[in-house]
Amino acid sequence: MNLSTPVVSKVVVVGGGIFGASSALHLARQGIRTVLVNDGPLASGASGRSLAWLNSARRRSAAYHYLRLAGIDRYRTLAAKHPGAAWLRFDGGLTWDADDSSNEIADVFAHERSIGYDALLLSAEEIASITPGVDARSVPAQGAIFNPGEGWVDLPSLIALLVSEFQTLGGEVVTDGGRAKLLTRGGRAGAVTLDDGREIGADAVLLATGAAVPSMALDSGKTIPDATPIALLVRTEAIDHPLRAVLNTPRVAIRPMPAGGFALDSAWSEEEVVARGDGTYQVDQSTIRGLLEEASKVLTGNPKLTVASYGVGPKPIPGDGEPVFGPLKELEGCYVAFSHSGATLGLIAGEILADEIATGEANPLLNGFRPTRF
Ligand SMILES: Cc1cc2nc3c(=O)[nH]c(=O)nc-3n(C[C@H](O)[C@H](O)[C@H](O)COP(=O)(O)OP(=O)(O)OC[C@H]3O[C@@H](n4cnc5c(N)ncnc54)[C@H](O)[C@@H]3O)c2cc1C
Repeated sequence: MNLSTPVVSKVVVVGGGIFGASSALHLARQGIRTVLVNDGPLASGASGRSLAWLNSARRRSAAYHYLRLAGIDRYRTLAAKHPGAAWLRFDGGLTWDADDSSNEIADVFAHERSIGYDALLLSAEEIASITPGVDARSVPAQGAIFNPGEGWVDLPSLIALLVSEFQTLGGEVVTDGGRAKLLTRGGRAGAVTLDDGREIGADAVLLATGAAVPSMALDSGKTIPDATPIALLVRTEAIDHPLRAVLNTPRVAIRPMPAGGFALDSAWSEEEVVARGDGTYQVDQSTIRGLLEEASKVLTGNPKLTVASYGVGPKPIPGDGEPVFGPLKELEGCYVAFSHSGATLGLIAGEILADEIATGEANPLLNGFRPTRF
């Protein structure tokens, strides 16, 4: 609860991914009448096909690192409320680099230690005693970094939980409403319209539409540089395997899933996806097979992995790689949430954005991440 009197009484949140669900819940917790609208079912965008590794590993600006740590802190609190949850785990993250001149594991380790980010530098032989399930033969002589404080979340499960509380608090959810459009009233964001012609009025509108944020912001006169790539997430069938940590390796990233399979992605496999002119994507069987094989190589026992499903589509990333959160100067009452690492940031960003929308007061934590920087 915020002690300031809210400056808005009704808000429409457009986008049923993690940023929209989290912001809507935090607004409802502040007693603000909130409508969450999504074009399809909830979690049907990037949040439904995310690796969702909770981390602040490697190097980034101090402000971004701090925000991510606050993000992980909120997940820790949530995990304490849901002990034993299969959809939120803090079993650490293990990462290593290729065995060539690009290997920067020693430098990254020194950096992480210098900023107090929990990190252990392990030789291939030491890994098994710290975290199970990794084939030591795939780890090069430079070793691997284990970050015990990292974890992962199953975003569709989390979104369902957040939206369930949102509805208990009186929040209204409109799914499958088609592409909502922002309407201005009296020179400010005043409503959205849905495909069926319905118009939902509001004192403020949050655009949390993932990869669609830049085009929707442009309609309001704001250019937000966009570096959104197409991403591929492959989910395996359930398998009995001891891996618990999230692995980030040169050829594949792996994280366990609640039902016992693994979620896989990598940079090379996403580059192999072909975006067709009609908005659909071509994913070759050889790409999926290659990713399964790369995953098998780094797992103990080199298990045969089989694909259960895959998700493909845009992964929202702003042009300069840093989050874009807060009000648009060009259109009063319109806010945006557009960022990579939305799994890590989802809870904290929703909390702060709701606070800012409710009070009209800027939180300094987001100062470096405003749309006004463009
Ligand atoms: C393969 C992959 C791996 C990732 N790995 C990680 C990771 O390891 N760690 C991490 O922290 N993050 C990771 N991310 C990033 C993270 O998943 C995203 O940043 C986050 O899910 C984005 O959430 P969102 O709410 O902004 O967007 P989305 O989840 O895309 O939600 C936006 C929603 O808005 C809807 N929508 C769009 N336009 C409209 C409209 N006009 N009207 C109504 N609805 C609309 C969309 O259909 C969608 O449902 C990864 C993402 C991908 C794809």
